[in-house]
Amino acid sequence: MALELPPLPYAYDALESAIDEETVHIHHDLHHQAYVNNANNALKDTEWDSKSAEEILRNLNSVAENIRGPIRNNVGGVWNHNMYWEMMGPNGGGEPGGELGEAITSTFESFDNFKTLFNNGGATRFGSGWVWLVMNKAGKLEVVSTPNQDNPMTDGLEPIMVNDVWEHAYYLRYRNRRPEYLGAWWNVVNWDNIAARFAAAKAKVG
Ligand code: MN
Repeated sequence: MALELPPLPYAYDALESAIDEETVHIHHDLHHQAYVNNANNALKDTEWDSKSAEEILRNLNSVAENIRGPIRNNVGGVWNHNMYWEMMGPNGGGEPGGELGEAITSTFESFDNFKTLFNNGGATRFGSGWVWLVMNKAGKLEVVSTPNQDNPMTDGLEPIMVNDVWEHAYYLRYRNRRPEYLGAWWNVVNWDNIAARFAAAKAKVG
């Protein structure tokens, strides 16, 4: 079964407080679509073509080496962007409450410290990649970054939130000022979606 591009879960201009309409349009309809097309080409006629993107990424090290490269890059590109769009929204921003808010505060000392750590993770990722909040195997929160389209699930980590720091995510409005994009991005963070991911990871990891 082929992977598909999920429709954007809001209008193209819904993220204007951080990301302009044209960037969302190009990023979703062209970049994300290209990962879907290239992933399907890479998976075609392999034993992995009926698996979900998540299952493939969690078992990436079992994919034969001679086909692993394009699968890693493009299936990662599909899954990472699916999560990225889902955990943003027009009514985002503010600070998380509940168990997620408590876990962030107790792990990173304060929400502001967490933001600084997350922004630094994105700002210092050399070249292209992603910055993540993950839950590790011990059930602890961590900020990590990955190059290219690599996904923390391949290392046994549970993704909780993510930001895309490829230039295509911000260059039209922010040009080379990645830290400015990282700072504005908190305006569109959808904490309900992230809290649901945190709860699911907690139930899984314990
Ligand atoms: Mn991207």
